[in-house]
Amino acid sequence: MRDERAEGRDGRKRRSSSVGRRRKKKYRVKKRFFVFLLILILCLAGMVRCTVHRLTDGDSSPDGGSTGFDGIGADGSEGGSVQRTAIASTEAWKLTLVNKTHRLPEDYTVETAAIAGDTAGHTFDARAVDSLNRMLADAKEAGLDVMVCSAYRTIEYQENLIAAQVAKYVAQGLSQAEAEARTATEIIEPGASEHNLGLAVDLVARSYQTLDAAQASTAENQWLLANCTRYGFILRYPDGKQEITGIIYEPWHFRYVGEAAASEIMEQGLCLEEYLGQN
Ligand SMILES: [Zn+2]
Repeated sequence: MRDERAEGRDGRKRRSSSVGRRRKKKYRVKKRFFVFLLILILCLAGMVRCTVHRLTDGDSSPDGGSTGFDGIGADGSEGGSVQRTAIASTEAWKLTLVNKTHRLPEDYTVETAAIAGDTAGHTFDARAVDSLNRMLADAKEAGLDVMVCSAYRTIEYQENLIAAQVAKYVAQGLSQAEAEARTATEIIEPGASEHNLGLAVDLVARSYQTLDAAQASTAENQWLLANCTRYGFILRYPDGKQEITGIIYEPWHFRYVGEAAASEIMEQGLCLEEYLGQN
């Protein structure tokens, strides 16, 4: 193909016009095939990435356990009318799906950076931290006091959390199996929380630091909801999507997906699973 192109470009080998036409046509067909192949490869790469990262997530306490699961898995998005034009133009890492069927590999690592002005020392994916910092700075500028209560959590942190909880229950008299089963209903498995990815952040109003549905009535949360797409963020676990996400309504949990995808997702009232057409 490169030969054909080079030949066309420098015109060294011109034969008859019909040969030229044939070649042009052939070139067009080849070009189309190449574009198709490229798109196919990109799609496959995305699928492989999502498959490698088996999913699950949720949280309902700052930097700790999670009791987010409200429903059992869902059986699919509505498909069809969903607009997904941003997927093709968005780098794959921004749209990595992490949920109960797409878990991150145990050795997953990501380069993180400190969140500006966060005295608690939370970190975020270094590729997206500037967007988060801008969102927080603009919220402050608007007179709001948004507080980060959780961001990136290492898988090791999640493992330690689970081990400590199991040990606590064993000390209380439960068998190892009972303790593990009970812990599993309270703390999400390592790699199954979106916080392990580095692109999720829990944001609350300093005046109301409780992680419950009432967080949505704070001025801080309303501002975030109205403006998050400008910085590439979505509300990851919206009300009414529990059956699909497997996570309760979490008005505090925001996920970075990039500006283009964020607008499409929020404007269409979707959750990430629906947007990606995956569960
Ligand atoms: Zn969260």
